[in-house]
Amino acid sequence: MIYDYLIVGSGLFGVTFAYKAKQIGKKCLVIDKRPHIGGNVYCENIEGINVHKYGAHIFHTSNKKVWDFVNSFVPFNRYTNSPVANFKGKLYNLPFNMNTFYQMWGVTTPEEAAKKLEEQRKESKIDFPQNLEQQALNLVGRDIYETLIKGYTEKQWGRKCTELPAFIIKRLPLRMTFDNNYFNDSYQGIPIGGYNKLIDGLLDGIETQTNVDFFENRLELEKLAKKIVFTGSIDQFYDYKFGKLEYRTIRFETEILDVQNFQGNAVINYTEAKIPYTRIIEHKHFEPENPAYRNNKTVISKEFSSEWTKDSEPFYPVNDEKNTTLYQKYKVLADNEKNVIFGGRLAEYKYYDMDDVIEKAINFSI
Ligand code: UDP
Repeated sequence: MIYDYLIVGSGLFGVTFAYKAKQIGKKCLVIDKRPHIGGNVYCENIEGINVHKYGAHIFHTSNKKVWDFVNSFVPFNRYTNSPVANFKGKLYNLPFNMNTFYQMWGVTTPEEAAKKLEEQRKESKIDFPQNLEQQALNLVGRDIYETLIKGYTEKQWGRKCTELPAFIIKRLPLRMTFDNNYFNDSYQGIPIGGYNKLIDGLLDGIETQTNVDFFENRLELEKLAKKIVFTGSIDQFYDYKFGKLEYRTIRFETEILDVQNFQGNAVINYTEAKIPYTRIIEHKHFEPENPAYRNNKTVISKEFSSEWTKDSEPFYPVNDEKNTTLYQKYKVLADNEKNVIFGGRLAEYKYYDMDDVIEKAINFSI
């Protein structure tokens, strides 16, 4: 055997694991089926702009250890995510805060806003919310639910809000201040020069092969290393023996436009059901310090969410009851593997944020 670890997939879990393993003298081979490394944080340079090719990735964490770790490879800028929602041509700030309440109801003080929220919540109060709709109605009431949540969520997940787990919406903060920062974390930013710098830094000196599909040559590849770190879909690893897990995928329509500034913000969500895309990303706003920012060209991506099929990339696990039960069956097999480590969004079938994935890989006892 040539390697200590064969790492299948060069996303954040795989490359962080490889980095840690190398530090203690282990020999790793990282393979990826795509023509590039970096998994879904990979950026493509278009017109000098770092385009988040697989959707917006905004790094945020409250874990200083993780923040210092990523910043040791590439400095991060002070980008703060403040998405704006467009509903029937009217703009609302997100997450739900005093600006949103003012735009929705004309209320100008926290006291007025609290009163209005209470009124709205009372109309549909449920003691133990069982699904996303009930959770949202309890949290913000019907006006906000119907304007900013229902359409977006049903497009994003392709399921009714009554069929989705409540926890998805718990990601979003609710604030009684005029603060449009989407995240509550202590640290937030984008790597200056793009995510590829982070990935290149982590993989420095580690053998890497792209365009290598683990499943096309499994037996040969498995012989190369003592252990495997698998970051792909867990159901595929077990040849779908219990059935297929569902994922959501995103199709991107990316355009280069001859304007300096198209929408004035990195992220605009389209919360109406009848607009087919969920959001438009204008990539240059992630990195205003990039000289290309001032050019009269910009790159935008419309995101269309749909059910994953074999020919697309899986993005989001669908953590509803049915899929969670199925995943548990695969997990029992995974837990009994002596020489295979499963990590990341696809292998753990978990709606992970980037910092949690890195934390998990850093703390893994190799
Ligand atoms: N969400 C919403 N309206 C919005 C933005 C988000 O209802 O304008 C809900 C939606 O259900 C989404 C969840 O909040 O799936 C989490 O959103 P987040 O922005 O964290 O999703 P991600 O960036 O991971 O796609």
